[in-house]
Amino acid sequence: MDRQIPQDISIRPFDVIVIGAGINGAGIARDAAMRGLKVLLLDKEDVSSGTTQWSTRLIHGGLRYLEHYEFSLVRESLKDREILLRTAPHLVRPLGFLVPIYEYMEHGRVMIQLGMMAYDALSIEKSVERHSIFDRDQTLEREPGLNPEGLKGAAFYYDAQAEYPERIVVENAVSAGDHGAVTLTYAKVDRLIIEDGNVQGVEFEDVLRGGRHTARAPVTINATGPWVDEVLGRMDRYGESEERMIGGTKGSHLIVDPFPGAPQTALYVEARENSRPYFIVPWNGRYLIGTTDIRYEGNLDCVVADDEEIDYLLNETNHVVPEANLTRDDVLFTYSGVRPLPYEPEGAEGSVSRGHIIYDHSEHEPKIGGLFSIIGGKLTTYRNLARETVDAVYEKLGKKVPKSRTDEVPLPGGATEDFEAFSEDFKSESGLTEELSQRLLKLYGVCAPHVLAMAANDPSLKRPLNSPARVETGIIGAEVLYAFRRELAEKLSDVLLRRSMVGLGPHVALDVDEAAAQVAVRHLDWTEEHAEREVKEYRDYVQRFKPKEFRKREPARA
Ligand SMILES: Cc1cc2nc3c(=O)[nH]c(=O)nc-3n(C[C@H](O)[C@H](O)[C@H](O)COP(=O)(O)OP(=O)(O)OC[C@H]3O[C@@H](n4cnc5c(N)ncnc54)[C@H](O)[C@@H]3O)c2cc1C
Repeated sequence: MDRQIPQDISIRPFDVIVIGAGINGAGIARDAAMRGLKVLLLDKEDVSSGTTQWSTRLIHGGLRYLEHYEFSLVRESLKDREILLRTAPHLVRPLGFLVPIYEYMEHGRVMIQLGMMAYDALSIEKSVERHSIFDRDQTLEREPGLNPEGLKGAAFYYDAQAEYPERIVVENAVSAGDHGAVTLTYAKVDRLIIEDGNVQGVEFEDVLRGGRHTARAPVTINATGPWVDEVLGRMDRYGESEERMIGGTKGSHLIVDPFPGAPQTALYVEARENSRPYFIVPWNGRYLIGTTDIRYEGNLDCVVADDEEIDYLLNETNHVVPEANLTRDDVLFTYSGVRPLPYEPEGAEGSVSRGHIIYDHSEHEPKIGGLFSIIGGKLTTYRNLARETVDAVYEKLGKKVPKSRTDEVPLPGGATEDFEAFSEDFKSESGLTEELSQRLLKLYGVCAPHVLAMAANDPSLKRPLNSPARVETGIIGAEVLYAFRRELAEKLSDVLLRRSMVGLGPHVALDVDEAAAQVAVRHLDWTEEHAEREVKEYRDYVQRFKPKEFRKREPARA
């Protein structure tokens, strides 16, 4: 869609400008708009195009944070996990985790059992089952693929998974818009406007169409994840010498097809090489293996998994599931991101706190009013972080703080009392195959009928875009239109990677990208040149995933 910047943007009376539409920025924008504030949300790329799309996709208390005595973070996370299970039932689901206990591990049976008990106690109001402890035989009965050598038993517990956190972000941004917020993507903030010691607004560049704009508000929130320092570096009074806030660590993941010995549930394993925990998680019909944790000073706009990280994750997986025998050739694709953690140059990466700080610049030197920066934070706790931030904004504005309602109001796709019943009705009425109905429900929840409504004048938009022989990805044409018309997509990559999610399928959407662009040609007035350019840009972008599909097609690029 050719979305124009509103002509009156520089004089609109916004209450708050949020820079960065990752999970935290979009969550803040939604909560603020729901409480009646006039919000402008800006991102230099698409919504969820930063760290949020590179996470392990777990909505979890963070069992391992107990080791660092971060009880309040675990408690907060477990509370928010329950809220998300309720308010986004289509996107967040319970997932079982088995923790095998081996002789080589630093964390023995007693320690793991104590951790499990604490975890249960901290999630008193949980909807999922309590943990169980298995002996060696019970463990192998459940997961026969596990390496029996040195195995002493296992613990089993429940947490939750968001297969597509990207869609949680999209739904937050859409909901923010429904409550009056203005969201502009591909709007890069390159200056904070400071007058009389206060940030009064921002200057931003329209990345797609060119041109510069200003917007003003008494409060600005820098929710740019690992880019927080970069945005602050552009403040008039900040220079290179200012204190650094973010010290990111890189984490990489591998995606592989189901393999011999693959677990039925998620595995949470302590690595042999460095005692770091990592996950082998059933995800999207395949397995997600990750992650690493390495201090990172490289390019934040293109983070790529190194061969050493790939080998480390493959070796560890092959050790715990010996039949797997995974090689680099089995890797369908990889992805990597940088955790926006508080800057701590010393000590082990894993020990840096995963809690968040809402940094009020008026309370630190050099004192700047009207500006908050968000440091750290997890996917899991975005809602509570947003609540605390909007409370702080109201206080800054000198207004009475209304109560946040994000703990009870579902995200747009979750707006039903009974998601199961809704799903059954949708399946019987949609006229789609069971597989396609399931797919739409999983992605769009109760908005699935609105997606189908895009096909009202062209029934071909209800059919999968890839050839019938490969129904695997299943994206239908209507989703392309829905992404552009309703869900703030501006580019083909937005549609494939952060709306329909086919970009994270086994072929990273290289089998449907052209067909998706053709839907835009037929229905959205894209020219053939525009479509070609978008496909090329998409293919250039996904190079960073090191996709097998490219390695197969063009071996020289592998
Ligand atoms: C490897 C890895 C695994 C993780 N796993 C989990 C997990 O399983 N569970 C969990 O709870 N958490 C997990 N996390 C943590 C979680 O993903 C992040 O803390 C969270 O996504 C951060 O969100 P954010 O909105 O603060 O930042 P981001 O998602 O990075 O969003 C920042 C946004 O700011 C935009 N931006 C930057 N500069 C500008 C500018 N100048 N102008 C306008 N916009 C700008 C960017 O484009 C981006 O969209 C993981 C993180 C990583 C890296």
